[in-house]
Amino acid sequence: MTFIYNYLLTKQHLNVVISSTYSSKEQINQKFMRSMTMKNLTIIIFCIYQLSAVTVHASENPNHLNDINKHRLVIGIVVDQMRHDYISKYWNKYSDDGFKRMVREGFSFDDTHFDYMPTNTGPGHASVFTGTTPSIHGIMDNSWFDPNLRRSIYVTEDSTVMSVGTHTDAGKMSPIFMLSSTISDELRLTTNFRSKVVSISLKDRGAILPGGHTGDAYWFDSTTGHFITSTYYRNELPVWLDVFNRDNHVGRLLSNDWITLLPIETYVESIEDNNPYEGTFRGMESPTFPYKLPELVKNSGPGLIASTPFGNDLLVELAKSAITGETLGVNDVTDMLIISFSSPDYIGHRFGPSSIEVQDTYLRLDQSLAELFKYVDDYIGHENVLYFITSDHGAAYNTNFLSDRNIPTGSLVRREIHSELTDYTTRKYGFDPILHLGSSQIFLDLKKIDDHNLKASEISRDLSIKLLEFEGIAGALTYEDLLFNNYSDQIRQAVQKGFNAQRSGQVLFWLKPNWFSSLRRTGTTHGTAWNYDTRAPLIFFGWNIKSGNTTIRSSITDIAPTLANILGISYPSGNTGSPLNHFMNY
Ligand code: ZN
Ligand code: ZN
Repeated sequence: MTFIYNYLLTKQHLNVVISSTYSSKEQINQKFMRSMTMKNLTIIIFCIYQLSAVTVHASENPNHLNDINKHRLVIGIVVDQMRHDYISKYWNKYSDDGFKRMVREGFSFDDTHFDYMPTNTGPGHASVFTGTTPSIHGIMDNSWFDPNLRRSIYVTEDSTVMSVGTHTDAGKMSPIFMLSSTISDELRLTTNFRSKVVSISLKDRGAILPGGHTGDAYWFDSTTGHFITSTYYRNELPVWLDVFNRDNHVGRLLSNDWITLLPIETYVESIEDNNPYEGTFRGMESPTFPYKLPELVKNSGPGLIASTPFGNDLLVELAKSAITGETLGVNDVTDMLIISFSSPDYIGHRFGPSSIEVQDTYLRLDQSLAELFKYVDDYIGHENVLYFITSDHGAAYNTNFLSDRNIPTGSLVRREIHSELTDYTTRKYGFDPILHLGSSQIFLDLKKIDDHNLKASEISRDLSIKLLEFEGIAGALTYEDLLFNNYSDQIRQAVQKGFNAQRSGQVLFWLKPNWFSSLRRTGTTHGTAWNYDTRAPLIFFGWNIKSGNTTIRSSITDIAPTLANILGISYPSGNTGSPLNHFMNY
């Protein structure tokens, strides 16, 4: 009412100014009231009715997540090493209630990519939740060389904190190296920390980075088989987690052999079970079903579960305990649960994307997800939860599998490259300036170069050209190239987005497609800026999201700002992604 009155008053005032007839506000009001005819009043009453109708609609719409005081839950699911094509490749074998339900009911971004390198677990999780890339969030890799310490640092190591829930060092972890806030941090900042954020994974980095600097994170200690945390978060495990650990789900889940979910002869999407491209478990002679887990666990301990599909079941059980234990989704504000499934990565590394083992893992994960969705449906109703599912990177096919099928591939022998580069620089400069040769970077000894009155920029340039002589290396850029240029082609841009002025080395290089940075006869790996590593599934599902999809390219860094817009909260502090909300109907 006040708004409409002021609006009309302003309009009237403009007329007044133009006619210059009236000098005081009182006079304007008198004139305004006098000029109000029955017609005007009818319009005003209609406008008030319309406005109040809109207001009532917004506050009564149970699906309107913009009101963060609603009782809502966001569940972020990351499937470690999930290639985009695993949805279509195994489509005919999935149940109706897992991946198919997400695709059927949700909105799918079918050309979503990690747009930086290295595409590994630490940067992947950090990029999804910070909405930016290693150049800004600083999570350079799973571990990276620190020239000051002259050793590699692990992405979530933190010697200043203690393990909670175990006697081992597996809990000496925190997110201190991550330089941006996360979407989970921003949710908590907006709600004055009333929102609960719980992030769980078998991998420490899979739980810690998504949980941000302020959420809770719990990960698996493979020595004890318990989920743990660190004093960065709390001094004791919550009661619900103590109970979960005591219930020995690991023992139960490893008490049966791993056999295929469906008859093995129906796995026509994968190569034969016994083949030379797969690694196997310690104590086994061939990579073939059945995997006798009760026997294998005697050698490997409870950590074995991470390398089986039952690691996913363990995490779904933990998710259910976290939901009820923390009463997620039924508090005064939106809560967030993050589940990072690590087992698909361990299994993918050992067996590769063409294996029956990987296929069976996804068929079983499909069922685990269906069970999770059903549990949450029954708990708070599907309309009250917003899911998103993505991965942290893809994976290549096994190199020998590819070469046996005439697809170009190869592996670097880094030891040989290092010694050839050392010979070259020693011949040219009289000393060896290389401090460290990593899988995609060279760190130079800047002090030694200075002592020889030489310039690191010159040596970097020489090395970036010399590297191109090695088969398999596709290109190289120096830190000066990356500091002073803006690259627009996909690969150089990916290198640039993975370059951090304080944490990167002096030469960054990348490999040809399907080349590996080290020799790996069986299984596979990831880390490049090529499509098999960068393309990821991305589906928003639940709440009020309408079914749909697009193949317009998007970046993994777009997830966080999209969520921020749905939730009505701020972008992460370092966000560089763009919101995708305009694609979706909700
Ligand atoms: Zn990963
Ligand atoms: Zn991996």
